[in-house]
Amino acid sequence: MSAVWHPFFQHATEPVPPRITHAEGARLTTADGTILIDAISSWWVTTHGHRYPPIMAAIRAATEDLDQIIFAGLTHAPAEALAEGLVQMAPEGLTRVFFSDSGSTSVEVALKMALGFWAHSGQPRHRIAVIEDSYHGDTIGTMSVGERGVFNAPYMPLLFDVARLPFPAGDGAATIAAFEALADGGEIAALILEPLVLGSGGMRMYPPAVLASLAQVARRHEILLIADEVMTGWGRTGTLWACDQAGVAPDILCTSKGLTGGSLPLAATLASEPIFAAHYSTDRRRTFFHSSSYTANPIACAAALANLEVWRSEPVMERIATLIARQSDHLAVLADDPRFENPRQCGTIAALDLKVPAAGYLAEAGPRMRADFMARGVLLRPLGNTIYVLPPYGITEGELAKVWDAIAQVRPG
Ligand SMILES: *Cc1c(COP(=O)(O)O)cnc(C)c1O
Repeated sequence: MSAVWHPFFQHATEPVPPRITHAEGARLTTADGTILIDAISSWWVTTHGHRYPPIMAAIRAATEDLDQIIFAGLTHAPAEALAEGLVQMAPEGLTRVFFSDSGSTSVEVALKMALGFWAHSGQPRHRIAVIEDSYHGDTIGTMSVGERGVFNAPYMPLLFDVARLPFPAGDGAATIAAFEALADGGEIAALILEPLVLGSGGMRMYPPAVLASLAQVARRHEILLIADEVMTGWGRTGTLWACDQAGVAPDILCTSKGLTGGSLPLAATLASEPIFAAHYSTDRRRTFFHSSSYTANPIACAAALANLEVWRSEPVMERIATLIARQSDHLAVLADDPRFENPRQCGTIAALDLKVPAAGYLAEAGPRMRADFMARGVLLRPLGNTIYVLPPYGITEGELAKVWDAIAQVRPG
């Protein structure tokens, strides 16, 4: 019996997890030599491929000089260069970079920055607006701004109150109108959203124009816009940032997952100058009191810097364009299949729903499909009855075809 308690894993019902001994490109090798194609980028982190050579080389090199260095009052070159690189690549107006170590933490930091901004501006606003079905992490704060459901039922009494907007279905008019009405109240500090794709909420997608409209309403009412690009960043939606497709410049942007190409844990919260300025004061009470022990880990920063260099020097966008076209072709084959509904795609992410009598995350179809995929050598983790393919960009056409072949063999719900 293993002492390990796995995440999002029901030890009472699920099979013993295969032990992975090697990773390369889109392939994971198990202890018994079986190859698994990683069609979900190891929970959305792996961008180029597993053990991408320039990133691995940068990690090895970084360990020759540094390990963790306290980042309060000291600094180091990997963090300085990474912050500068991120500011250059980020949407307009994001000038300050705060490092942490996970997507959840980057969102907590974003919420604290937004509330700090209003508190220090002498005009306290405390309410956060959110979009229904969103996911921003599993800490108490991020669960509070995320969808309430089976995932957080035991903690519900501790989650703070937020203002909820309906998911922007169709042209998003109902959501935009609801946001206008809410904004008129003058008490909303920030709107936090996952731009273009609600990941854990079931790969639900909405158009860039809706994002642009929400951003306009926020701007008009001086509501801060927090873009949680933890999943959507680094090319996943077809542009470097999902916000780019809407021409939206958020006040705060959260990035993690693909920041190091998926090699090491690291996160960054990027903020606009006014948000930094609200904390900049001779009054020390305005200090931004937040830190993680491993803030700006130099080895993780070196991995991220190598990732930035990959983006600058390799044809990443061409690889993404190729993947988008292939995903679209594979999805089209199943578009009219009576077993499935709602085929959809945003950039490199393709999704469709298995028709089942009772949908939802706990739908029996989920674990059944996962086991069937695994038996076919494909790592896919349907979100309830939603099957999605979110692969590393370096996946070969042969590997991708194998993934879609496994989906084509799904038993009816
Ligand atoms: C994964 C995810 C998070 C949380 O990131 P962790 O690194 O798992 O804490 C936050 N927001 C979004 C949109 C995510 O997809």
